[in-house]
Amino acid sequence: MVQTDRPLILACNDDGIRSEGLRALVRSLEAVGDVVVVAPDRERSAAGHALTLTRPLRVVSVDAGWYSVDGTPTDCVTLAVMELLGRRPNLVAAGINHGSNLGDDVTYSGTVASAIEATLQGLPAFAISGEGKGQFDFRLAAACARRLAEEILRRGLPQGTLLNVNVPNLSREAVRGWAVTRQGRRVYGETVHRKVDPRGHAYYWIGGASATWECGDGTDYEAVQDGWVSVTP
Ligand code: MN
Repeated sequence: MVQTDRPLILACNDDGIRSEGLRALVRSLEAVGDVVVVAPDRERSAAGHALTLTRPLRVVSVDAGWYSVDGTPTDCVTLAVMELLGRRPNLVAAGINHGSNLGDDVTYSGTVASAIEATLQGLPAFAISGEGKGQFDFRLAAACARRLAEEILRRGLPQGTLLNVNVPNLSREAVRGWAVTRQGRRVYGETVHRKVDPRGHAYYWIGGASATWECGDGTDYEAVQDGWVSVTP
C-alpha cells in the first residue's frame, strides 16, 4: 500500500460489493482521501449488527483496494480495522444504501450497523442512504457524502456518535438543504406472505407492505418527506 498523508477512508455497505450505491460513494470519497472498500460479497440488507462466529470468513481481493468478504457488514468492518487496512482509518463511511434507513428501521440495517461497529471501535463514522425504490439516482447522495466526509475529517465527531444520513430522491437543485433530526418511530404492520412452492410446501416471505410512520416534528422521516437531507446523530 502506498503511504500518503491523505486520510484513509474505509467504505462498506450491506448491499454487497457490486452495489451501484457503493461505487457512487467510493467515487465521491476519492476526492477526499484514499478509499479502501471492504464489503459483503452479496446483498446482506437487514443483517443488522450480526457478527459471524460459527464459521471461518474468506476475503477476496477483487481489485486494488477492494475486498469482498463472505460475511456480514459488521464482519467487514471488524476484518478491515483489525487485519486488512494496515492502519486505523480516519473515517468509516457506509452506503450509499439502496433505500432509506429511517426511524426504528435502523435496528435492521446492516449499513447503519457497520457505522455502529466503527463507532464502537472508536472511529468516526457515518451511514448514508438514498430514498427510493428500484431506480436510484445517487448524484445528490454522493455529493452529500463528500461534503460530510470533508466536515468530519476537519472537525471530528463526538466520541461514540455516528451520523445516520438519509437523502431524499431529489436533484441537487430541488433539495432544501440539511436538517439535523431525531430518529422517528415506525408504525409496524409487517406483512408475511404465505405461498406454496412447486413441491406443494408452504414458504413465507416477510415484507412488502409500505411503511407508515408516526408523525412528529423534527424526525428523520418528516425531514426526508419535506425534501431535506436528514442527519441524525
Ligand atoms: Mn441495504
